[in-house]
Amino acid sequence: MRLLLIEDERELAAALSGALSKHGIVTDHTMYLADAFELTRQNSYDAILLDRRLPDGEGLTFIPMLRRAGTYTPIIVLTARNEPLERVEGLDVGADDYLGKPFLVDELMARLRAVLRRPPSLTELKITVGRMLIDPLHLSVTVESTPLDLPRRELLVLAALAKRKDKTVLRSTLEAAVYNYEEEIQSNALDAHISRLRKRLLDAGAGVAVHNIRGVGYLLKEE
Ligand code: CA
Repeated sequence: MRLLLIEDERELAAALSGALSKHGIVTDHTMYLADAFELTRQNSYDAILLDRRLPDGEGLTFIPMLRRAGTYTPIIVLTARNEPLERVEGLDVGADDYLGKPFLVDELMARLRAVLRRPPSLTELKITVGRMLIDPLHLSVTVESTPLDLPRRELLVLAALAKRKDKTVLRSTLEAAVYNYEEEIQSNALDAHISRLRKRLLDAGAGVAVHNIRGVGYLLKEE
């Protein structure tokens, strides 16, 4: 799993990155919103940890900026600004969770698991890609207005790929999109879903191709 940490307290950032690495989590760290935005364009993150008081602005302004750019990575706000109304403000602007400082790494881990097991689809708008229109909220896909019936898991994989089209989506991200945290995942289950999905997309003339980035993940491109 790979996280982006946007935090200007260097000691906290270093301690947190160290603690997360013990859980097998890779953390990219920046102090600046401008850098953070660039990083989200270059990388696929599973989640973003966001401070509010940052050198180049209020962290919350990052959330609508990111969503407008079509990136729906879960965001957990980590902040000393933890009054009830500040929490309301953070959640209403689109944060997926809000955790006051100081916090225990164990609680952060539990909240990360919580946001990652939510189907990413529930918060998203319709996605147009190739000749398809994907409605993640109602779990439906049409190709030029003709409904395309997909099993739920294939649809969740497709939605996760489509929302980051032209970018490699990590296997862990796709698995998190499809499976609950508690479910045991067969190592080749994802590849089997993708293989069946590819055939259905081809048969339907969906106008997209799913590329395998060996050992890393998959990437969806328009054709
Ligand atoms: Ca700060």
